[in-house]
Amino acid sequence: KLKIQKAQEEGRPYWSFEYFPPKTNQGVQNLYDRMERMYRLGPEFIDITWNAGGTSSQLTSEIVSTAQSVYGLETVMHLTCTNMPKEKIDKALKDAKDCGCQNILALRGDPPRGQVNWEACENGFSHAIDLVRYIRAQYGDYFGICVAGYCEGHVDNPDKEDDLRRLKEKVDAGADFIITQVFYDVDLFLVWIKKCRAIGITCPILPGLLPIQNYNGFNRIVSLSKTIVPKSVIDALEPIKHDDAAVKEYGIKLAVEMIRKMYDSGINGFHFYTMNLERSTRLILEALQFVAPVEKVKPLPWCPSLSAKRI
Ligand code: FAD
Repeated sequence: KLKIQKAQEEGRPYWSFEYFPPKTNQGVQNLYDRMERMYRLGPEFIDITWNAGGTSSQLTSEIVSTAQSVYGLETVMHLTCTNMPKEKIDKALKDAKDCGCQNILALRGDPPRGQVNWEACENGFSHAIDLVRYIRAQYGDYFGICVAGYCEGHVDNPDKEDDLRRLKEKVDAGADFIITQVFYDVDLFLVWIKKCRAIGITCPILPGLLPIQNYNGFNRIVSLSKTIVPKSVIDALEPIKHDDAAVKEYGIKLAVEMIRKMYDSGINGFHFYTMNLERSTRLILEALQFVAPVEKVKPLPWCPSLSAKRI
């Protein structure tokens, strides 16, 4: 099982890295190389996203299997209910168990591309909580279960208090920890986490951090997900928006400031949406002195070479 409960209790900083299945074989190879290098940054776990029951969900299972069983990385498999009748859920869970993966991020999922509203498929589940319950009913305590949390509120639920209660229900149904949506307003997150604690959510909650990589990409993501962006961030980006290198550097500085502020407020676990990129995440961890600068890190003798096996 994940050791994050222990890390949480010890109060030491810890972090995790999310990756998504690349579209090409070359992309998969590149991802393995990157995962190998980033493994040396000591993530508590890595996690692989799931895509709406399509072909890339098979790739999720394959990457999880390789990362977990071949390379021994503590891996969390995302699993969504979108287009997933129970038989497909059963197969995905069995594949995960067979390869030694012991952790599932149980999600409802987004609507498939081109569809506005989310709908349950035939013989499928309606909410993430159904999946949490199902996993617990089928597998007992075998899997550690993570669920998604929304510090700015989930877009489908205009009632933020109700959304928070839904989160508590997922935890009560058997979730062990929470990863939040991407956010840039730390104050809002800190207020929300207090509310979580006040209604009795006691499990670890990892804030989701997406280091800004470039101006247009950032704008696309925040407008699609309706993420709140503090004025200070908008003002800082405006004069450098045409300078990709400057935007990246600012993204690193901003993430470092956000993490420092959260750490000073008692948060010690941090989740990176890496977008399959390495540099910003590494520089952030180095700037925080959570890891030594990469030149000084000796290759770990026990760190298996991920290049050894490729899909
Ligand atoms: P739920 O917890 O089911 O909530 C969905 C909505 O329904 C919320 O508005 C909630 O308030 C409401 N609700 C919950 N329970 C009930 C109930 N019993 N009755 C009525 N209303 C209810 N998407 C992917 O497709 N693939 C991924 O790999 C992926 N990874 C993610 C990782 C993280 C950390 C996060 C934060 C999100 C991720 N997503 C992913 C996006 C996620 O699937 C969407 O945000 C989705 O719209 C909601 O998923 P959920 O699990 O939070 O749903």
